[in-house]
Amino acid sequence: MSDSSTAEAEQLVAEATGNGSEADGPRFTLELNQDQKDIKEWVHGFAEGVVRPAAEEWDEREETPWPVIQEAAKIGLYSFEALGQFWADETGLTLPIANEELFWGDAGIGMAIMGTSLAVAAIFGQGTPEQMGEWIPQCFGDADEPKVGAFCASEPDAGSDVSAIRTTAKYDEAKDEWVLNGQKAWATNGGIASVHVVIASVDRELGSRGHAAFVVPPGTKGCEQGAKVKKHGLRASHTADVHLDDCRVPGACLLGGKEKLDERLARVREGKRSKSQAAMQTFEASRPTVGAQALGIARAAYEYSLEYAKERRQFGKAIIENQAIAFALADMKLEIDAARLLVWRAAWMGRNGHKFENAEGSMSKLKAGEVAVWATERAIQILGGNGYTREYPVERMHRDAKIYTIFEGTSEIQRLVISRAISGVHIK
Ligand SMILES: Cc1cc2nc3c(=O)[nH]c(=O)nc-3n(C[C@H](O)[C@H](O)[C@H](O)COP(=O)(O)OP(=O)(O)OC[C@H]3O[C@@H](n4cnc5c(N)ncnc54)[C@H](O)[C@@H]3O)c2cc1C
Repeated sequence: MSDSSTAEAEQLVAEATGNGSEADGPRFTLELNQDQKDIKEWVHGFAEGVVRPAAEEWDEREETPWPVIQEAAKIGLYSFEALGQFWADETGLTLPIANEELFWGDAGIGMAIMGTSLAVAAIFGQGTPEQMGEWIPQCFGDADEPKVGAFCASEPDAGSDVSAIRTTAKYDEAKDEWVLNGQKAWATNGGIASVHVVIASVDRELGSRGHAAFVVPPGTKGCEQGAKVKKHGLRASHTADVHLDDCRVPGACLLGGKEKLDERLARVREGKRSKSQAAMQTFEASRPTVGAQALGIARAAYEYSLEYAKERRQFGKAIIENQAIAFALADMKLEIDAARLLVWRAAWMGRNGHKFENAEGSMSKLKAGEVAVWATERAIQILGGNGYTREYPVERMHRDAKIYTIFEGTSEIQRLVISRAISGVHIK
């Protein structure tokens, strides 16, 4: 094509697609804008310079890496302002991008830093503006004394089946207090958090529609840590049972307020649909972000094994020269990129108010979680004996990846959600 016909063709494409005409609004692009690039680079720098070097130590210690959280707080990465800035991006991509970079550094430490965001998401999603202003800053503390938050939904007999929650919340009208009783299981930051968000049943007969979310303020009597869980992976992140024993919190700690709860319960009792189920709301919103964390682990394992395969020599040549190894790496790259597109789509939809008609949030978390488990296992295989030892990081990445097919809805539950959404049939 001549120069002039190329220009004409470009003009036609621009007219047909609306590109080039500012008035038509933002065009579709996967090119990151400058803010997104800057944040990606900033988080990556922290992940590379601070998180990675500390990963092995805190995995072995199985303790919360407070000094690393403090470093993150000092640079402003561990703060509501940073989370707010990531969230503010109208494309929805900055939050998953930041999570992918941080968890690329290390997932255990990543979760120690990001675990608070589940409690924050619950307060942000369900709280009044006053509740947000009061409790969210207390989830983080400050750079001199960082704090963490915990979100407590699961119980020993209520994991996938959130409707089986037995923890009760009874209203003491005389004192305008809620009294919480029950046992929470596997709570990230459970017992060490300053602020616990607890999902409790105010009416057992209504199942998950009778649930409400409560803030348990720092130092509240009757809220104690139970057994700390020893884990397969994500070991720098604290996980524990939480006991609620006649734990009294002020009436104002009910997220969203009593009037809203009473209205909702009345609607449910009349047989009308209720929009909000306390725990599910939080999980639905956070699924693409959780998927992005899994992606970070998968990418770290892929990059490590790619470099290793170029260096390691057997039979007189680099092992990557064998198709078996090169194709495995090609598939890893392919699956990771495919998972990222699903994560970005769901994040964009969530941020722009598009309903997940086909459970796109679940799709993103399911795919990314399964890719992370599979890719980290492939990475171990590529490293051979070295991959199986704690001298190399890929076995830790594999241990860390496994939780992503379990928490925030197991892979089976995600498939249940997707199959129900696409079929309209109540698949069991
Ligand atoms: C490290 C870690 C951190 C966690 N952090 C938190 C936290 O911060 N807050 C919190 O509230 N919870 C947290 N959890 C709990 C987590 O969300 C639950 O473990 C998860 O929801 C699964 O529940 P479960 O373990 O009871 O498994 P179960 O529900 O007992 O499931 C066992 C198996 O049965 C399958 N299954 C169950 N029902 C069905 C079905 N209907 N159809 C098909 N298959 C089914 C599951 O997919 C799974 O394979 C955490 C867990 C861990 C391990």
